[in-house]
Amino acid sequence: MNEIKVPLFDLDYGEEEEEAVLSVLRRRWLSMGEVTQQFETEFASTLGVRHALAVSNGTVALHLALLALGIGVRDEVIVPALTFVATANAVLYTNAEVRFADIVGAEELNISPEEVESKITPRTKAIIVMHYGGYPCRMSEIMEIARRYGLAVVEDAAHAPGATLEGRSMGTWGEIGCFSFFSNKNLATGEGGMLVTDRDDLAEKVRSMRSHGMTSLSWDRHKGHAFSYDVTGLGYNYRIDEIRCALGLVQLHKLAQNNARRSELSSEYRRILSGKEYNGIEIPFGQTRGETSCHIFPILLPEGCDRRSFMETMRQGGVQTSIHYPPIHTFTYYRDRFPGISLPRTESAARREVTLPLYPTMGFGGLDLVVQTARQALIAARKEALNPETQVERYPFI
Ligand SMILES: *Cc1c(COP(=O)(O)O)cnc(C)c1O
Repeated sequence: MNEIKVPLFDLDYGEEEEEAVLSVLRRRWLSMGEVTQQFETEFASTLGVRHALAVSNGTVALHLALLALGIGVRDEVIVPALTFVATANAVLYTNAEVRFADIVGAEELNISPEEVESKITPRTKAIIVMHYGGYPCRMSEIMEIARRYGLAVVEDAAHAPGATLEGRSMGTWGEIGCFSFFSNKNLATGEGGMLVTDRDDLAEKVRSMRSHGMTSLSWDRHKGHAFSYDVTGLGYNYRIDEIRCALGLVQLHKLAQNNARRSELSSEYRRILSGKEYNGIEIPFGQTRGETSCHIFPILLPEGCDRRSFMETMRQGGVQTSIHYPPIHTFTYYRDRFPGISLPRTESAARREVTLPLYPTMGFGGLDLVVQTARQALIAARKEALNPETQVERYPFI
């Protein structure tokens, strides 16, 4: 294997992150405490939302969001399939059923409002939207449908910290917004997540459920605010710790600047890849609404092109690429559980999608290597596509 010269993603971590971790170690309080509270307060004020509650990861943020909304057995939740599997898994954890809705199309890889409306049944209780790549979904339409049918909206905003639409932060349009701080996200702490809401009642439920349904935290007891505790409902250990929140604070302070750098790189990719040498490649989200957080840079290869060959040539050239995403309904577990689902626009875009490297510390030199290698890879993938033996990519993808 050749050495990787441009990885798909790289952290923007430096001395500030190291200092933040050391300062927590020196304070000798590791679980949720003052640093967690500060991270929550600053995250909430950055987004302009009343409550931000830090949790172990983005998946449990989604789980708690659905539980707080009272979703459970015999309910249905409408979700996209072109997303990370966690979006749908969280629904199944509550014993509700998922109903997959197709995307708008190759130009916009987000959930289609018309599709959402067509999947509503008397059992539907909520809609989960996912802002693919940090590009805002059609929230005005989605919220209008939700109001008309009395449904809750949860935003999977794992890609979208710092993204806005009509001046309003993504994650604050629906009842609850869920963020992930997994190591490859725009704001990275390794593992970690945040749930945001303007509703006091939902915030209280989540606050209790993230720590066993207990009425106080060890921190409160340590500070003498509480003597004992009661358990008022079924809860979980979905807590986060001070070290991760300290990292989160530093990363939050860098977020706007890093998103701006991602945006600059994305524009440069768009400019170069619209050249005639790249004819046939489509770049989604050319017409964006709002401000994107540019989490990833997806391209769609020309129809009939061999994606495996494209990615292999990139790899040989030292460029790491990825696929976002194998659609959830095509995974073995989901096919067995929900057979016969067809989402033509999701399937067509997902078959052609390749994600190019994008991260704030990536230089224009790195970007240049990516696009030069992509030119060769496209030629190779077009040749490969003529070979009927390798032309068809079957589900599941891997
Ligand atoms: C990363 C991600 C999640 C899950 O977050 P974790 O913190 O890894 O649990 C959920 N949805 C999407 C779209 C993601 O990208």
